[in-house]
Amino acid sequence: MDYGIKTWGNDNFFIEDGKVKVNTGCEPSLMEIIQEIRKDGIRGPILLRFPHLIQKQIRMIYKSFSDAKREFNYEGSFNAVYPLKVNQFPNFVKNLVSLGQKYNYGLEAGSKAELLLAMAYNNPNAPITVNGFKDNEMISLGFIAAEMGHNITLTIEGINELESIISIAKDRFGCVPNIGLRIRLHSSGIGIWAKSGGINSKFGLTSTELLEAVNMIRDANLLEKFTMIHFHIGSQITDIAPLKKALREAGNIYAELCRMGATNLRAINLGGGLAVEYSQHKTTLHKNYSLSEYANDVVYLLKDIANRKNVSEPDIFIESGRFVAAHHAVLVAPVLELFSQEYTDQKLHLKENNPPLIQELFDLFNTMNRKNALEFLHDSIDHMESLLTLFDLGYIDLQDRSNTEILVNLIIKKAVGLIADKKLNEILDIQDRVQERYLVNFSLFQSLPDFWGIEQTFPVMPLDRLDETPTRSASLWDITCDSDGEIGFNTETPLFLHDVDIKNRDYFLGFFLVGAYQEVLGMKHNLFTHPTEATVIIDDDGFEIQNMLESQSISDILEDLDYDIREVQENLNERIEASDIISEKEKKYILGEIYLFLNDNGYLKTINSNEGVNYE
Ligand code: PLP
Repeated sequence: MDYGIKTWGNDNFFIEDGKVKVNTGCEPSLMEIIQEIRKDGIRGPILLRFPHLIQKQIRMIYKSFSDAKREFNYEGSFNAVYPLKVNQFPNFVKNLVSLGQKYNYGLEAGSKAELLLAMAYNNPNAPITVNGFKDNEMISLGFIAAEMGHNITLTIEGINELESIISIAKDRFGCVPNIGLRIRLHSSGIGIWAKSGGINSKFGLTSTELLEAVNMIRDANLLEKFTMIHFHIGSQITDIAPLKKALREAGNIYAELCRMGATNLRAINLGGGLAVEYSQHKTTLHKNYSLSEYANDVVYLLKDIANRKNVSEPDIFIESGRFVAAHHAVLVAPVLELFSQEYTDQKLHLKENNPPLIQELFDLFNTMNRKNALEFLHDSIDHMESLLTLFDLGYIDLQDRSNTEILVNLIIKKAVGLIADKKLNEILDIQDRVQERYLVNFSLFQSLPDFWGIEQTFPVMPLDRLDETPTRSASLWDITCDSDGEIGFNTETPLFLHDVDIKNRDYFLGFFLVGAYQEVLGMKHNLFTHPTEATVIIDDDGFEIQNMLESQSISDILEDLDYDIREVQENLNERIEASDIISEKEKKYILGEIYLFLNDNGYLKTINSNEGVNYE
């Protein structure tokens, strides 16, 4: 099994010698990288950032549009801005800005905080676009950006924002940002974010409002500043057809506005939406187009409309975020425990006289072979159900019940091993019934919030042992105290993992394509915060770990919630001091322990640790 790496992996990763390796420079395995980081005592989930994958996506976008422009002899320019909302974390944004400098790659902001970030970090002269609802303060901030020399366009979501711009322009120092009008298209996207576009969408101006806006801009003598129209039909546009429809609509609106006398209108901004293929399974592929098809369609359609309507070919702006950010981050999380790991034959304590069904289970286990495996497996599951009923009715005891569970699990493991190479659908049904639960040291709410919120799946695979057939149908449990923190086994898109004994060997899972939206949407459920992160720079000679940022300490998390950490500590200390069930020496020891806990992060470190505790 290659876990669909060729489908979602974008050639960024490959499997060799049973390990996932990074397809660049000296091609290190993810295991090597993780082991290097863990050498310093780091435990818990680790988010790896690969700047070369940011660079690759940026380069691909500019190259595809430059090829398309050449092919169609397109006269307008191509420009891109990165929407900060997709990932605002500094170790991502700062890399992105410097990698994008040679392309004049800009930033998009949707809030005051994002705009301030853009003003502080954007490459000089690279464009800044501003979307979203704006109050007078945010519009003033846009003016400040223009006064600082930024190439900024404020995209108007409603007439009231335009009124503010016109009035602020009168009061300030003569430097006015460019004005963009967000158009409300009839066309909408598809999927979960389709409502970002369409006539009932939250954003943009109707045709009537557009006409009104242009008249207002003309009356305020600001026509020269009206340079762009903007639309965004939603994120993760998996089908190219709605985008083409929207482009035709927007292209015609552009041409009409030019003909109406919008003398300086020269750009169409298509927003974001370029999709990422998240599927691990050929049967559930999401995306039906490539980047070059997207670029060709955009350039061809806009050229065609401009030529037919006899207006200049517009400059193209895109605001793709997911496509740029998703690939660069991989979350690596250690498996802590397999829930049926305790079902070993050493724990089986058969009696001299066992209930007949238990004896039968034992015989099934001993005589099972490849031919009868499936049948015996079904029999054992039936027997287990009967035995559990017998327990409920008081006919068998707890030892019998334990023997039942152990025997059935041993039978399952043996059967799956015997028939693992048979046709998938033959064993899927059984696998569904005999899932193994893998407890994984991460929080789904913090690291994959879109799985919880909108059932977005992400590719997941083990980082090594890929030369061994995985035999266990896997359900992944995170460490939050919430039953929603589970990625259940799904027969449509099954995940199989290896049978591992964590006490003897580490087993790490990689969650891929987590660089877009997940980090900032992540929730502190159970007070698990952003995991430890590291940036990995790879060249032909080796790899280097940079910008290690350990997950927040428990003190910091509590402070973020506005607890007075000194008060928390004092309360704990007072209560320990007041305890009359431990000695003074023990109290001193415990105070030290509490101090360490507060200053450490909250993820789990070990389970069933056999390291002894030294109270001296
Ligand atoms: N531009 C605007 C106006 C958006 O609202 C969004 C996100 O929804 C984007 C760009 C980025 O979209 P994506 O990440 O799908 O490229």
